[in-house]
Amino acid sequence: MDYPVPSLSVVLTPDQKLEARKIAEEIAAIAREGHVLSGSITFRLTRCRQPGCKCMADPAQPHGPYWQWTRKVAGKTVSRWLSADQVADYQPWITNHRRLRELTARLDAIGISAVYADPRTPHRR
Ligand SMILES: [Zn+2]
Repeated sequence: MDYPVPSLSVVLTPDQKLEARKIAEEIAAIAREGHVLSGSITFRLTRCRQPGCKCMADPAQPHGPYWQWTRKVAGKTVSRWLSADQVADYQPWITNHRRLRELTARLDAIGISAVYADPRTPHRR
């Protein structure tokens, strides 16, 4: 594993170390399964817009339900249709991805606290 060698001049509080260790355990548990997926799954009803189709009747009976997995790739939205059993399988993966983001945000909060608590941080306007 490659990561920068940590400096010994910044020392976390015991509470921060404990929290970081708990976060690391939860991240490791999620990573061990490898069930992580970005994006979101949404439920769609569609209209084919062909005259005479039930989806254009009044009241309308749209086609579906269909499920769509959507994510961003280089700023663009990319979607794929999913079957109902795929939704049941992959929804927990998306939940895991969100959890990983929360956990890394909490680690970042520890880092932010460290900088603010560091007496070497210059006070400049
Ligand atoms: Zn239709």
